[in-house]
Amino acid sequence: MKRKIYAVHDGDLESFLNDLNVLDKINREQIMCQKCGCVIILENIGFFFTSDGEIKICCDNLNCFYEFKRSQMMLGGDKTQ
Ligand SMILES: [Zn+2]
Repeated sequence: MKRKIYAVHDGDLESFLNDLNVLDKINREQIMCQKCGCVIILENIGFFFTSDGEIKICCDNLNCFYEFKRSQMMLGGDKTQ
């Protein structure tokens, strides 16, 4: 079963990641999910957010997404809209 929360065409996704300077890191498996700590690869990218001006990536595990939403609510609102 495969779900993508952040729906981007794969080619667009790679250029998007390249623009953010994270594509290299993903290819070297240097990016971890901010919630569960698994290695982020192109196939399991769930969604992005920024924190302290840095791009953060979570995997496509729905639990990670819900945890992220919960932590956003505790901070006083979702600013990604
Ligand atoms: Zn995760």
